[in-house]
Amino acid sequence: VRQFKHFDAKTVEEAIAILSEYENARIIAGGQDVLTLLKDKVRGPKFGLPDVVVNIKNIPELIGVRETADGLEIGALTILSDIESHPTIQEQYGVLAKAAGEVGTPQVRNVGTLGGNLCQRPRCWYFRRALFDKCYKKGGDFCFAVTGENSYHCILKGELCYVVHPSDTAPALMALNASVKIAGPDGVRTVPLDEFFIGPREDVLHENVLQPNEVLTQVQVPTPTANTRGAFVKVKERRVLDFALVSLAAVVSGQNGTIDKATLVLGSIAPTPYRATEAEKILEGGTLNEALAQRAGEAVVMGARPMSQNAYKVDIVKGLVQQTLLSLA
Ligand SMILES: Cc1cc2nc3c(=O)[nH]c(=O)nc-3n(C[C@H](O)[C@H](O)[C@H](O)COP(=O)(O)OP(=O)(O)OC[C@H]3O[C@@H](n4cnc5c(N)ncnc54)[C@H](O)[C@@H]3O)c2cc1C
Ligand code: SF4
Repeated sequence: VRQFKHFDAKTVEEAIAILSEYENARIIAGGQDVLTLLKDKVRGPKFGLPDVVVNIKNIPELIGVRETADGLEIGALTILSDIESHPTIQEQYGVLAKAAGEVGTPQVRNVGTLGGNLCQRPRCWYFRRALFDKCYKKGGDFCFAVTGENSYHCILKGELCYVVHPSDTAPALMALNASVKIAGPDGVRTVPLDEFFIGPREDVLHENVLQPNEVLTQVQVPTPTANTRGAFVKVKERRVLDFALVSLAAVVSGQNGTIDKATLVLGSIAPTPYRATEAEKILEGGTLNEALAQRAGEAVVMGARPMSQNAYKVDIVKGLVQQTLLSLA
């Protein structure tokens, strides 16, 4: 591993000050993603190995789940296993508890933090191998996946780069209308998760709107409205320790089979968690039955442009949306 400076920040302000002082500094939380990238020497023309690593794990205010009158405030350092087993999250925000419980293995969830899960880098094997440093995401001018191995890549919203967003908790939190609090040198801002993630069209080098000297401090989840129910389903190749081929967080509200509001967010089909707004429009005001669920599934993949090896994802999406919606009828 290349030499780097290591700082233990005791406060958010201290972390921001160190991040602002050094040009090539990186936050480390649970470290599962940061350390892998460091050990694998992943670098490129515009993606360097960090000279400075800022440990934020000693900032107590970033840890824990607080229940408020409006919903939940989850500190960015809260580990995934605490979210998975939290009684209120299990009872009222089951989509999130399920998604957190689907990440990796118990070992991964005992170390991995919610902030790290949302901010983790993509898994594209060309991005992760030092050999392929000309890849767009590392500041180069080539996508190796277009003519290479692309079975796990995106079917929607790819442009220049065709990664998928790997986080399991991101689709669940988006479906629950969550926002993130971000602290930086100019103060604190709140960003809805819908606007937090960005695709290669906006910026091929980054996956979210965080600036290099900002810290994600908290995730805010509003209380679900009455008669709301939801599901998180992850399709993977192996039963344990695997990233999603496709995941779906579905939240619907309404009574007697009629849907007042539906939110569908899919993981691992686009460079960001994918909000299926056309399918949501089809569902809202309708009666949840097999025909409607099928139409919604087809609407999600209407504009899909699969690559040479991943057309199978189109069929998975259609089946998953249909099956999951019917389970919520
Ligand atoms: C074996 C294995 C299996 C995995 N399986 C899955 C899976 O099935 N599903 C899934 O979703 N993920 C999976 N992961 C990915 C990921 O490691 C975990 O999801 C974990 O939550 C990452 O959290 P961390 O705290 O370890 O992140 P870190 O490695 O510490 O950080 C990840 C990134 O986020 C940034 N960051 C962290 N916290 C903050 C913050 N508060 N503010 C700003 N930036 C921040 C870091 O700079 C870094 O870029 C897996 C990882 C491993 C090693
Ligand atoms: S999909 Fe993105 S990360 Fe992967 S090789 Fe292409 S440009 Fe690089």
